[in-house]
Amino acid sequence: MAIATSIPTVTIPNIKKSAADEIAGLRSRIKGEVLLPADAGYEDARGVHVLNYDQKPRAIVRAAGTDDVAEAVRFARRLDIPLAVRSGGHSVPGLSMRDGIVTVDLAGMKDVRIDPVTKRARVGAGATSGDLAGPAQEHGLALTTGDTSSVGLGGLVTGGGVGLMARKHGLTIDNLVSATVVTADGNIVTASKNLNPDLFWGIRGGGGNFGIITEFEFQLSDVGMILGGVVVLPPTREVLRGYLDYMAVAPEGLTTIVDVLRAPPAPFIPEDRVGEVMVMVMVLVTWTGDLAEGEQAIAPLRALAEPIVDTVAPMPYPAIYNYTDHLTAPHGIAIRQMFADDLSDDALDAALAAVADGPGPVNDFHLRGMGGAVSRVDEDATAFAHRTQKYFVAVIAVSFDGSDESVGPNTAWASELWSKIEGEGRGAYVNFQQNHDAEAINRSYPPATLRRLREVKAKYDADNVFRFNQNIQPA
Ligand SMILES: Cc1cc2nc3c(=O)[nH]c(=O)nc-3n(C[C@H](O)[C@H](O)[C@H](O)COP(=O)(O)OP(=O)(O)OC[C@H]3O[C@@H](n4cnc5c(N)ncnc54)[C@H](O)[C@@H]3O)c2cc1C
Repeated sequence: MAIATSIPTVTIPNIKKSAADEIAGLRSRIKGEVLLPADAGYEDARGVHVLNYDQKPRAIVRAAGTDDVAEAVRFARRLDIPLAVRSGGHSVPGLSMRDGIVTVDLAGMKDVRIDPVTKRARVGAGATSGDLAGPAQEHGLALTTGDTSSVGLGGLVTGGGVGLMARKHGLTIDNLVSATVVTADGNIVTASKNLNPDLFWGIRGGGGNFGIITEFEFQLSDVGMILGGVVVLPPTREVLRGYLDYMAVAPEGLTTIVDVLRAPPAPFIPEDRVGEVMVMVMVLVTWTGDLAEGEQAIAPLRALAEPIVDTVAPMPYPAIYNYTDHLTAPHGIAIRQMFADDLSDDALDAALAAVADGPGPVNDFHLRGMGGAVSRVDEDATAFAHRTQKYFVAVIAVSFDGSDESVGPNTAWASELWSKIEGEGRGAYVNFQQNHDAEAINRSYPPATLRRLREVKAKYDADNVFRFNQNIQPA
């Protein structure tokens, strides 16, 4: 491949080679591609899902395998160029593509291999939830992953993975058996319960701080047909209160997400009601075998008020992603979030009022009932420590471009509602943090978890090579 003329030809001290020579050397050593700003394909490759940021890395290494990733790490270290990693490109703070850095892009590493006997899957870290869901379903199996099919497993899993079957099967990390990790010195190691257990602990919630994961091994669950769909209910405090109360005691087979938002122009919303404020209770259920029990579990939600729409029906698990397909389109986002054990009437009223007045197009008060299998794992078993709180609560504003005109008013809207409710929660989910500062870290990790994360960081990445993430400072 021709060397682009825009490569700086400065001599790098202590290696006595030009950057162009280094790039040529890297290209000759890897099976994947090295894309520089002048190369065809660079513009596409730097595209991410979150449009708030428009960043131009110095080079994008599209890795074809673990060895390529190791080469890229050694290359960036030799040249002392900061390194970032991209899997699905959904980073809310835009940490996978930054000006002037080298991004290791795993989007091409999407291999999915399923062993139907052990019910385990080996999955390339660049695969998305959607890439795994279809092939797993062919064997009557599934992994609980996030609500949007295009989110990358690389980012999702390293943060924890609050998924569509969380109450039944735990976080995504609770189903992780092992991972292949490229460490800061370019070595390739396995992390599991028995191999490098401290690293295994750290990558389950500690983000991309300890290395680049190139492959995950997951234990899948038997998931055939599920009951899935949406129940749309009227926007009242009583409906929200009823939802919160019920999810605290609901059977574990029932995992749900509530979005309070003005009705989107979705196929399941009657045309004459688009734009109204309504509570959408998206019920995502997995019943292994007995769908009748699922109907009973959903009945109390349906009884909260006369449903405006009710599409819940048996479906293969991957079909549930049709309901969140609009989130796979690139978007601007403003998000504030926390875990909580309760929400006051004042908080619910503030949310209902704010949604009605939001600048649009999507102003969302978002609730998830936690508990179940998530809460049965000890707080110190993984670096994701928010195991006991009953709810995940977020204020989310989405626009379909990343311009200041869209993101600005939505950010102000999110901050305003947030100021009224944030006192009611404790802790936050690292993967939904919009900022990446000390406050984001302190909200994401309780002090004991953070201390341990810093020790693991010191052992595996004392020079903080992996710092384009929710960064843990080495102890
Ligand atoms: C529309 C939307 C819906 C979402 N829904 C959910 C949900 O239901 N549940 C949930 O838990 N989260 C959800 N999230 C949050 C999501 O988990 C994070 O944004 C996650 O970081 C995205 O991962 P990615 O690989 O797509 O992003 P990327 O931008 O590729 O990566 C984000 C960061 O993850 C780290 N990282 C990525 N790949 C690797 C790797 N291979 N090795 C080491 N570190 C890596 C890096 O620090 C990187 O900066 C959602 C986000 C969005 C935007």
